[in-house]
Amino acid sequence: MPADLAIISPRSAAERSLAAGMRHVHPAALPQWRALLEFHWQERLERVTEFSLAYCDAEEAAADASSGRGARVAARRRAAEILRRTVAERRVLADIEAALSRLAIGRFGWCEQCGRVIATTRLAGMPQARYCADCDR
Ligand SMILES: [Zn+2]
Repeated sequence: MPADLAIISPRSAAERSLAAGMRHVHPAALPQWRALLEFHWQERLERVTEFSLAYCDAEEAAADASSGRGARVAARRRAAEILRRTVAERRVLADIEAALSRLAIGRFGWCEQCGRVIATTRLAGMPQARYCADCDR
C-alpha cells in the first residue's frame, strides 16, 4: 500500500480526544480514498441496475400465462432471489454513501464502535467499513 494512504494515528487518548474533530486520514490521501469509494459505488450501482432489470424479466416470466405452471413457479423463485441480492447490493451502496459522508466531515477511517483507527489494509479491501476488525467480530 502506498505510504500516503496511511492513516495518521493519535498517540494517546488525550491526543485522540483533541484530534476528534480533526481529519484522521492524511489529507493528501483523501482524494484517493474518495476515488476508491466512488469506484466501489459505481460498481455496486451497475449491479443494482443489472439485478433490477433481471428482476423485471423474472417477474414478467412469472406472470406469463402462456408458459407452464412449473416455469412460472421457477421464475417467481428466481425473482425472489434476484430481489434478495438487489437489496443486499443496495445496502452496500448505502454503506458506501455513508463512508463518503464520513470522509467529507473528517470521520473516515475511525471505528464507530471503539473510536480506534481502522487498519488501512481493511479499508483498502472494504473502504465503506464502519468498524475495526475487532468490533466487527
Ligand atoms: Zn472498533
